[in-house]
Amino acid sequence: MTDRVYNFSAGPATLPLPVLEQARDELLAYPGAGASIMEISHRSKIFAAVLEEAKSNIKTLLGLTDNYHVLFAHGGASMQFTMLAMNFLLGSTADYLLVGSWAAKAIKDGGRFGETHIAWSGKDEGFKRMPEDNELDLDPSAAFVHFTSNETIEGIQFPKEPESNGKPLFCDASSDFLCRPIDVARYGLIYAGAQKNVGPSGTAVVVLRKDMLKRATDNLPPLLDYRVLADNDSLYNTPSTFTIYLIALTTRWVLKEIGGLKEMEAVNTQKARMLYGVIDESDGFYRGHAAPQSRSIMNITFRVGTPDQEKTFLEQATAAGLDGLKGHRSVGGCRASIYNAMPVAGVEALCQFMREFKRTQG
Ligand code: PMP
Repeated sequence: MTDRVYNFSAGPATLPLPVLEQARDELLAYPGAGASIMEISHRSKIFAAVLEEAKSNIKTLLGLTDNYHVLFAHGGASMQFTMLAMNFLLGSTADYLLVGSWAAKAIKDGGRFGETHIAWSGKDEGFKRMPEDNELDLDPSAAFVHFTSNETIEGIQFPKEPESNGKPLFCDASSDFLCRPIDVARYGLIYAGAQKNVGPSGTAVVVLRKDMLKRATDNLPPLLDYRVLADNDSLYNTPSTFTIYLIALTTRWVLKEIGGLKEMEAVNTQKARMLYGVIDESDGFYRGHAAPQSRSIMNITFRVGTPDQEKTFLEQATAAGLDGLKGHRSVGGCRASIYNAMPVAGVEALCQFMREFKRTQG
């Protein structure tokens, strides 16, 4: 595997090597199918077992009771901005926490269907931190509280769930899904574009508390109706079968190889500490974007020396097999995305490169 680089891309992102190897080995003939998993019916027994495993791994990892549906929706996380608002915001109000670029999009899209009350905004501070509970201006009439648990572009993350005054939390967990345990009973809805922590792009994993469906809008277009998705076990139409297969393998890897979300969190925290350590010890040569209490353990955002040095840094890193470190086009700088599948060795290699770059250029 000498031609595989360490891929720090924010998404689509690196997947666990054993998962890719298994997918490669099974690509032409899935065991018992005599064909690729992507060539057989989504209503076949073989695919039904794959779908069941993907759901049951996610249930086990999150400790979900039977109160929750695990669904697979088309259109990635962006479609969920609209879908959740059509289902649960039409004609009502919800609290939204404006914590970064993705929250802003969720608010804009939600606002087409109902009242999006901004309970807190980090915009004036440049989205450097998440709010404290006592800063939230929650609306007593809100149907739910929407937050983005990890802002991928800015590299900030909630250390724990925000206060919601007993209202269900609705969470865009696209870039930190299954990275650590969560207090799942507080959530009405969790959604995540698959392409960071669980698989390829184009599909959103949706965890929905069943009682929420009683409040959902009637007669929506079927593919945008959670009831239709739930009633049909995500098989109303043809789902992205290959994606669901990879989600099954990736979640199996977290469960069996890593050991669960506590263990996953320990590895993720270790990797993040290593990188923030290099930033903090660099006498300002590397400058982190996030306030220390809101530092993401998934996306580490930082600037390097002068603009010229930053350019050289990115070029030399790529040449050294450390790829995808350029920050999002909207904010610039550098970003190391170290999702679940990024091995500790990859982070070690990046830390070593950063120390050496500072020694020679700083
Ligand atoms: N929310 C967050 C936090 C994200 O990071 C992303 C993708 N980078 C999205 C939403 C949008 O996801 P998708 O491209 O699957 O629509």
